[in-house]
Amino acid sequence: MKFIIDCMLGKLAKWLKILGFDALFFSKIEDDELLDIARKEGRILLTKDTGLIGRAKDVETLFLESEEWQDQVQQVLEHFNLREKIAPHTRCIDCNVELKNLPKKNAKNLVSAFVFDKADSFALCPNCGRVFWRGTHFKDMEVQIQKILKKKP
Ligand SMILES: [Zn+2]
Repeated sequence: MKFIIDCMLGKLAKWLKILGFDALFFSKIEDDELLDIARKEGRILLTKDTGLIGRAKDVETLFLESEEWQDQVQQVLEHFNLREKIAPHTRCIDCNVELKNLPKKNAKNLVSAFVFDKADSFALCPNCGRVFWRGTHFKDMEVQIQKILKKKP
């Protein structure tokens, strides 16, 4: 399942990517181009813009009800029944491509000594070369992910 996300919903896009979903996002794009990509790539449009939904012929859409990104994420997970497909830290949040596993020894020269020390697994974006990691020390994001995983409707 692939998504394309309205420019106004950057936080939702970022979090769908953190959770491992294909969530294409442009901070600036014309409506026509957005719809064009959705149609060509078979992406579901996530938006709060009812006008845009009205014009989205041949494109599946979901209207986001909440202003809060946490609620928006929950709505998407529920609506498309994605809770069991969540795979955190498997996608680049910049490029929206799947990350490749990076053995810890190979990460040594790519991250700070602090991160190398604290993180337990690493992944590399094959597109931009950015290194991602997870570990007990990186609490904020992990706490958010746990909240998302636990929340039941
Ligand atoms: Zn990347």
